Amino acid sequence: MVEGLSNNFYTGLKQLGLSLSDQQLAQFLRYQQELLDWNTRFNLTAITDPEEVQIKHFLDSLSLLAVYDGSQIDLLDIGSGAGFPGLALKIVRPEWNVTLLEATGKKVTFLRYVIEVLQLEGIAAEQGRAEELAHQAAYRAQFDLVTARAVASLSTLLEYSAPYCRVGGAIVLPKKGDLVDELARGRRAAGHVGATLKADVAVEVSGLVDGRRLLVWRQQKECPAQYPRAGAVMVKKPLG
Ligand code: SAM
Repeated sequence: MVEGLSNNFYTGLKQLGLSLSDQQLAQFLRYQQELLDWNTRFNLTAITDPEEVQIKHFLDSLSLLAVYDGSQIDLLDIGSGAGFPGLALKIVRPEWNVTLLEATGKKVTFLRYVIEVLQLEGIAAEQGRAEELAHQAAYRAQFDLVTARAVASLSTLLEYSAPYCRVGGAIVLPKKGDLVDELARGRRAAGHVGATLKADVAVEVSGLVDGRRLLVWRQQKECPAQYPRAGAVMVKKPLG
């Protein structure tokens, strides 16, 4: 046990079937310390209680492993903010090649700092907008797994995510609350961008049993070149 990490964090790891090394636990602790320290100067998270960081940021990010796991994959986290879920996943799956995409410069500065102090290799934080980078060949259809937490509605997220996903790859979108209408719109959007809903899985980790779900989409075919459209067009004419 590493001092500074709560019993509930360890319980959650166990529920997810994860057994972390001392080095990985120390990386989480340092990540938490840097997050809370930087948060006094920049607004990175509304969560300021250390145990809540461990449950609502770290475990919530790691819950994605209940629906998708693998070795040597390329992961893209869109709108990563302070690194959730992508940076937390990288700590637990160091062999993954991870790209954190974030529009806000100060958050990218934080992400790059944490990557450096945790001495992580095979992870990069890129500043940019999802709807713009997706049209660059270096990013288009390059990822096995695309995720985005708390960034936009499902139909917008699918339009952001599908262009980055390889055919046969997965898009995992964590969501919470009543999703009946949003999910119907998401399914319609998915049809336009070549994705289909494969699973809708409740998160079962104590401390997180509040209607959290993981929506797993499969990229069935290549996303048509016109997507994603410019942000203003997406707002005016949503796909779903
Ligand atoms: N994913 C993180 C989490 O769950 O803690 C951050 C969530 S925060 C509410 C949303 C983040 O998405 C912000 O940091 C924002 O700058 C970023 N964002 C929003 N739209 C974006 C876009 N089109 N491209 C890239 N980043 C975007």
